[in-house]
Amino acid sequence: MIVAANFKTNLTRKKTLNYLGALESILKEKNISQEVLVFPATSSLDEHEGLVTVGAQNAYATFNGAFTGEIGQEQLDEFGIKTILIGHSERRHVLGETQEELVTKFNFYKELGFKIVYCVGEPLEIRESGNEIMMKYISAQYEGIDTEYENLTIAYEPVWAIGTGLTPTLDDIQTVHQALKAKSKAPLLYGGSVKVANVEEVLSIENVDGVLVGGASLIAQDFAKMCEIAQEIENKE
Ligand code: PEP
Repeated sequence: MIVAANFKTNLTRKKTLNYLGALESILKEKNISQEVLVFPATSSLDEHEGLVTVGAQNAYATFNGAFTGEIGQEQLDEFGIKTILIGHSERRHVLGETQEELVTKFNFYKELGFKIVYCVGEPLEIRESGNEIMMKYISAQYEGIDTEYENLTIAYEPVWAIGTGLTPTLDDIQTVHQALKAKSKAPLLYGGSVKVANVEEVLSIENVDGVLVGGASLIAQDFAKMCEIAQEIENKE
């Protein structure tokens, strides 16, 4: 299973370093063999060795150049970063990234062999418009994306469930994941208000290959507990 943490614009460089140290020692102590990804803020990126893979929450589709405020592959390469989050709903809906821009970014980092965690998901009004409209909306987020890319992981994150404490029913997650698995065989994570209290039931759903956790990942001990629960589920299977 894949257990991923998205810090968004939280934690400083020093706090991230302490977090990763604490997380690594718990993962080692508990014999965790799950894939664990951590996406810190850009200013906290650094070289990291251990069980955890550190990835970038965002980067521009460039090696370097005149793109004020952005970072490119050269800045990621300095820290050995080869994993990137693309299409997170906050980048789509708050920062206004279009599908076209996301596809450009996807293709650029795909060419470089990056592991890409590509996020899809619907806002509330789309979900409330019924299943057909919702699936059409999510399908549009697959347009231009190479769904067979070997280093692809997809995260289904209903926008209305991110940071709100709301989660779809387990049946709803299962239904969407089943439909999305038909589009791509890539590992499929669920994200949206996952926390220690609900991670076991979410990870137990068919076609859920892991979780992407925002707010509840900010305390290393809580995130480590989620990795432990993932390990227990896998050990049972
Ligand atoms: C996210 O940011 O990807 C996310 C799922 O956030 P949260 O867990 O806080 O809902």
